[in-house]
Amino acid sequence: MQKQHFIDNAWQGGSSPEMIAVVDPSTGTTFGSLARGTAADIARAVASSRAAVGDTFDGPWGRLSAAQRGRLMMRLAAAVTERNEEFAQIEARDTGKSMKTARVDATALARYFEYYGGAADKLHGDTLPYEHGYTVLTIREPHGVTGHIVPWNYPMQIFGRTVGASLAAGNACVVKPAEDASLSILRLAELAAEIGFPAGALNVVTGYGHEAGAALTAHPGIDHISFTGSTVTGRLVAEAAAKRHCPVTLELGGKSPQLVFDDADLDQALPVIVNAIIQNAGQTCSAGSRVLVQRGIYETVLERLAERFRALRAGPPVLELEMGPLVNEKQYGLVKGFIDAAEAERIPVVARGSVHPEAASAGYYQAAVLFRDVPHTSALAQKEIFGPVLAAMPFEDEAEAIRLANGTDYGLVAGVWTRDGARQFRVARALRCGQVFINNYGAGGGVELPFGGVKSSGHGREKGFEALLGFTVLKTIAIKHG
Ligand code: NDP
Repeated sequence: MQKQHFIDNAWQGGSSPEMIAVVDPSTGTTFGSLARGTAADIARAVASSRAAVGDTFDGPWGRLSAAQRGRLMMRLAAAVTERNEEFAQIEARDTGKSMKTARVDATALARYFEYYGGAADKLHGDTLPYEHGYTVLTIREPHGVTGHIVPWNYPMQIFGRTVGASLAAGNACVVKPAEDASLSILRLAELAAEIGFPAGALNVVTGYGHEAGAALTAHPGIDHISFTGSTVTGRLVAEAAAKRHCPVTLELGGKSPQLVFDDADLDQALPVIVNAIIQNAGQTCSAGSRVLVQRGIYETVLERLAERFRALRAGPPVLELEMGPLVNEKQYGLVKGFIDAAEAERIPVVARGSVHPEAASAGYYQAAVLFRDVPHTSALAQKEIFGPVLAAMPFEDEAEAIRLANGTDYGLVAGVWTRDGARQFRVARALRCGQVFINNYGAGGGVELPFGGVKSSGHGREKGFEALLGFTVLKTIAIKHG
């Protein structure tokens, strides 16, 4: 299987003959190749998207009415829904995620296109009170051409929430998927062409981040950049964008806490707390990777979490176990490095899951691990591990819980487990992050719910109606009519 770029509604060879191997993380074997995109390929894709929008929004995509755009997006949503199993299989093979998770991702992808398709013609400006003799109005215009750098952990979902919102607002999109997870996005672009999206509305250039990705962020024809990935690469993207004053949305992951107070309903909380860290084998930006537990129930919670961790299995996607492998050898090495370092520091392990006997020895499988008494300043408590590793630590009272929860460089999501209504509000207001879940935890969920971070977790909001606003420019028109 050899995949080219998808530009102008057609498969197109790259300017370089070099290809990138596509590896199945569950076996470590190569099963295809991708075009290794260059700056010239990015330039071709940007030119195609610019033509689709048109200089004055008069191109074949730019002149569509909002309702027409919305209808096309609804058709894409329906086409994805019909092919849920096909998309799930592509994603599971490419990223190693379990079929169960991949089906959920394909469903969410369709839902994003449905949501944003329905919202396209509800996005409008305002009229403003001003001086006598004037009428003043605002209109929301698209940026023009938006660039999207999509990581490998949730390619379909992240495509849905950024590209879906951008298309609905009237932009044309150039997408650079992660080299480890490009296949579902290429198939989506092909499907969009089949159902009638005009050429150039959606272009996909594959390749490495430091080549095709960097070329995309630096290209003067890109009017807005949407990036999801690591804090380090996020900084590079923001610097490249700042050089030409290009707006950028950054979603950079986190070290999200789950706070368990001594009045929490543990039967309800514990399965959710476990799922919040093992979902997608821990490779989730909003993973609940720290569990902060009030002292009085600390031992009980650890005992009950340990029981659940011992039952967790990592195995090939087809077995539909709790977890698949990690995405690649690099990620496996990173996660293992954190675990080894924590053990060398003698941070106690409470429980481990297992790797299924049918898992290929060359696959990148990491069993889930639960650590306890994790020092607040340790790497385990401060760094994003992006693997199935949960750090537990006790707290005495509400003030300490808030201090620990807020005490990292990140601020993406938090979960709070308590039956005390006043405390629910107090703690939710005191937490420095973009989303707070009370007595639930929505890692990755909620198409309708604005999502994004503070501090090193990034800025700008994805999901919900809020994301649409970010993909528009507000223009004010003041008319003096006497
Ligand atoms: P990166 O941030 O390097 O990669 C994310 C995306 O950025 C990929 O599409 C990548 O392309 C692209 N990219 C890489 N370098 C550049 C660049 N110079 N300019 C533009 N785009 C670029 O993350 P990694 O894959 O290296 O993973 C490392 C860590 O990042 C993880 O352990 C995790 O902590 C975090 N991460 C967080 C994510 C989140 O959801 N917030 C998602 C993924 C990672 P390519 O892969 O083709 O190089």
